[in-house]
Amino acid sequence: MPSKPVVTRIAPSPTGAMHIGNARAALFNWLYARHEGGKFLLRIEDTDRERSTADSVQVIFDSLEWLGLQWDGEPVFQHARADLHRAAVDRMLAWGSAVPCDGTAERSRGAPEQAKDEGHALRSPWRDQTAGHNQVGQPHVIRFRTPDDGETVIEDLVRGTVRFPNKDLEDFVLLRTDGAPIYNLAVTVDDHDMGVTHVARGEEHLSNAARQTLMYHALGWTPPTFAHLPLILGKDGAKLSKRHGAQSVGEFRQMGYLPETVRNYLAKLGWGHGDDEIFSDAQAIAWFDLNDVTKAPARLDWDKLNHFNNHYIRQADDERLTGLVLDALDTRDVRLPADARARLLAAIPLVKEGAKTILELADLCLFALKTRPLALDEKGLSQLTDETRARLSRLRDALENQGDWTPQPLEAALKQFAAAEGVGMGKFGPALRSVLSGGAPAPDLAGALTILGRSESLGRLDDALSQVR
Ligand code: GLU
Repeated sequence: MPSKPVVTRIAPSPTGAMHIGNARAALFNWLYARHEGGKFLLRIEDTDRERSTADSVQVIFDSLEWLGLQWDGEPVFQHARADLHRAAVDRMLAWGSAVPCDGTAERSRGAPEQAKDEGHALRSPWRDQTAGHNQVGQPHVIRFRTPDDGETVIEDLVRGTVRFPNKDLEDFVLLRTDGAPIYNLAVTVDDHDMGVTHVARGEEHLSNAARQTLMYHALGWTPPTFAHLPLILGKDGAKLSKRHGAQSVGEFRQMGYLPETVRNYLAKLGWGHGDDEIFSDAQAIAWFDLNDVTKAPARLDWDKLNHFNNHYIRQADDERLTGLVLDALDTRDVRLPADARARLLAAIPLVKEGAKTILELADLCLFALKTRPLALDEKGLSQLTDETRARLSRLRDALENQGDWTPQPLEAALKQFAAAEGVGMGKFGPALRSVLSGGAPAPDLAGALTILGRSESLGRLDDALSQVR
């Protein structure tokens, strides 16, 4: 018999930014579905009406799209399925695995203490009454009636066999007094209805898996295969927090990380393929298996992330990088020349090797975007002694007659000039650099000249040389 096609899902709650842990869960579910030739679904868990917002739904769409994790079919909105969640509760009520339970504090008084004395989790005082809703009184919640004894066992792909004694699982709430479904109920009904076969999510949901498994059994359904992913910690071993820098997909994007970097790096948080560091999506898809996810917490190492990003920046198409740098500069107070795009296209191939992020790449391009005449800083001005001015003036004439305006010939021309002057490059290099860059970071001199082009380079030299001290 052919086995059931794999269906995975990511089920974020739209209550703010998309956390990097959720992005890693999305990636693993996506990789596994693609590896198995199955489907990767998206469900928006907007059951909590107070905390869910339309903006946060958009953040989820944008984050997944930016990460390149395309889901299959239409997203499912959990809130719209509340009637189906309630219908499942009606079945559990009819079959005796759910009980109406007085929601008022007064009627429930003593229940937690009694549970503690008897050595089990909270039990509804109404769990053994056969009475219908009406006799319980209003308002009331509906609770799951957890079996008295025995255990609920989860065969987790990451954590192995995990046993939960049923006495430790409370009679958990399914529907609130206003009839609103609670998270665990909604997840169970939705995963079943969506045909989800594999649930990979953060390990904080492990005990929910026990409650969900109880409901699957009560409803006569087969639970999915669970894989609870290890925590993501900071490099110092502490839980990832603001102190460690970015935590959300949006923040990584704003800080200038490329989506392929984040995909590759996140894939290595809890999973890996031997010692392979940099790998393509196709390789990750070919290699990925939920069975290979590790139990040990993963650590986010910024140095490594930067190393990955530098790799992907070097690989990236220059047109694309130009667009990203323009976007990054858009958020800064930088006045751009009309030909900014062309200048960036000239600069990026020569400077990108030194950039760990798009923001750094933007910084490395700033010198090329300056408009003449450049303001020289104190240091630049002090370098322009009479002797150096005279020398730069002779260099200017030499450069005017320079044939090939590319890095190597320019490098050779500078060396030749130094030799002809009988001085080392140190005698005029720093001043030339200041004149060309206006004090901003710039690549080596030949690189800077190449990026600026002949007329801009000569123009910047002319401006500086004619500047009155
Ligand atoms: N909405 C839950 C979360 O964002 C999803 C948990 C699950 O995947 O079942 O953590």
